[in-house]
Amino acid sequence: MADEHSPLESEIRRLIAIAGPMPLAEYMRLCLTHPQYGYYMNRDPLGAGGDFITSPEISQMFGELIGLWMAAVWRQMDEPQDVRVVELGPGRGTLMHDALRAAKVVAAFANAIVVHLVEVSPALQQVQERRLEHLGVAVSWYRTLEEVPNGPSIVVANEFIDALPVRQAVKGNDGWHERVVDVAPEGHLCIATARDSLPVFETSMPRALRDAPLGAIYEWRTDDFALELGRRMRKDGAALIIDYGHERSGLGDTLQAVAEHSFADPLRVPGRADLTAHVDFEALAQCAESMGARIYGPIRQRDLFLRLGIEQRAAALKASAPQKAADIEIALSRLLAGGARGMGELFKAIAIAAPELGSLPGFEPPS
Ligand code: SAH
Repeated sequence: MADEHSPLESEIRRLIAIAGPMPLAEYMRLCLTHPQYGYYMNRDPLGAGGDFITSPEISQMFGELIGLWMAAVWRQMDEPQDVRVVELGPGRGTLMHDALRAAKVVAAFANAIVVHLVEVSPALQQVQERRLEHLGVAVSWYRTLEEVPNGPSIVVANEFIDALPVRQAVKGNDGWHERVVDVAPEGHLCIATARDSLPVFETSMPRALRDAPLGAIYEWRTDDFALELGRRMRKDGAALIIDYGHERSGLGDTLQAVAEHSFADPLRVPGRADLTAHVDFEALAQCAESMGARIYGPIRQRDLFLRLGIEQRAAALKASAPQKAADIEIALSRLLAGGARGMGELFKAIAIAAPELGSLPGFEPPS
């Protein structure tokens, strides 16, 4: 019989047939970064006609203010030469492009920068190369943060962690059971529950969530990324992480699929939709802090950008290009929007830094 599934779905079914139901995190990893068929691997999901739009693509103000943030942090670090400016998951390179352009106002900083980009997708790496080539800065690419050379670094990431695979467990009578992807009797892919409970799982969960009701879902990412970030930042580093998620660890399934700007079913057409899950900022902070780094925030994206002066920047842009004033105003309100789904409120910013740097711009305690 001819195989009617997409190549990635056939591969996932083959793996399930061999090894049994697949943990959700493994499914997510294959959907996003399978070398041939992964969602990010051979397309630009952010381009015109793409699936979703991110803050740096909405307005140049986003990257510019991050560039000025980096310059200020570099001064707090005592102005190291060859400072590594690292971006995780740079997408189309827009944030870095706008940040480097803005950072030129501090010439000594601009001259000290070596750019390191962590990108798994060959297609997006090409887009980044084209975007940054005329800026005249040295840029190197890596597939993981571990590969980036150690040393004084300023790290930024927007909508990167949400793409890192999540695991999920559901509370049953005899403990927590991992949620897995399986083939339903009717033949389609489905979410199922592993038969055996996860051994000694509850002690790894936040205390407040342990007596969750039957059927509750707990979601987590493995600690390795957050530990590595904390290890690097505790000495001579600062990271600014912006993403959607919750300030406190909680219960619930936040896995979502997006294609063509609409929500889709995460199990349909694997590899053709973006799969993400909310960032648990409390878990991220705890891991990084356990390595000796200091944590600032999380605060709402809206608060960070207001403190960094986005309104003043918008006013300056409008004054220099009055014909674009309406567009600038729309972009500003999108980035700062309140409400559960508004980017200013749903998106949070957290900074992870060496303790001796002191308070970071935008994260000062309210006076
Ligand atoms: N930061 C950009 C793009 C966000 S999309 C923006 O704000 O516009 C997520 C980015 O992370 C893409 O560049 C994607 O290819 C990259 N990515 C996703 N998973 C990754 C992984 N496991 N390792 C490295 N990069 C990854």
